[in-house]
Amino acid sequence: MLSESGFGSRKEVKALIKRGEVSVNDTVVKDAGANVQPVDRINIAGIDVNYQPFQYYLLNKPAGYLSATKDNHMQTVLDLLPTDLPHYRDLAPVGRLDRDTTGLLLLTNDGQLTHQLLSPKYHVAKVYRALVTGIVATELIEILAKGVKLSDFTTQPAQLKIVSQDSEQQQSLVELTITEGKYHQVKRMLAAFDHEVLQLERVQFGLLTLTDLPRGQYRELTSTELAALK
Ligand code: URA
Repeated sequence: MLSESGFGSRKEVKALIKRGEVSVNDTVVKDAGANVQPVDRINIAGIDVNYQPFQYYLLNKPAGYLSATKDNHMQTVLDLLPTDLPHYRDLAPVGRLDRDTTGLLLLTNDGQLTHQLLSPKYHVAKVYRALVTGIVATELIEILAKGVKLSDFTTQPAQLKIVSQDSEQQQSLVELTITEGKYHQVKRMLAAFDHEVLQLERVQFGLLTLTDLPRGQYRELTSTELAALK
């Protein structure tokens, strides 16, 4: 519990316990294997331990990182978080963004919430901002709102907003809201209409937005954000 609360490695907290620096309900406990419950009052060197079984972090993912916990060759989003964060070893991204996709990624050790947020039943809306080749026609708004037939499935209705069109560069900036999360879904939906995605950023997940979190940085979810997710 102590090492999961960010008080050091298992070895380090064992040493603290042996030195008599830890008390449980005002009694010094020197046995590192002693059983404690979240309701117990734990104090370490004068500091009350506020044990949180679950942690929730929001990351502004840069391009070049895999949405995975481990990889033998490439950097993963876990490499962007300090290893001494509480529950670091159990954190995992909620869903995936492609390696070249940037933006909002939630990480948690709360498997039940992860499952719920990824379940098609819950229809969590995800908003993506995409820079694409070509001038996106306004007719596409209606077409995507009806769902698009891709090679292996038909998408749920999606909302398209045309943010800007650059006729000189022959590029458009669009925002696409989808409630699913199939492999390469946004890229495939736009490619079906000959718009290649040049840059993709997720700007919203459910009610979560990045606010002003810089690229590559993370922050804890606020209690209001967490309540809105559940
Ligand atoms: N759709 C994609 O094509 N890529 C992503 O990373 C996310 C959604």
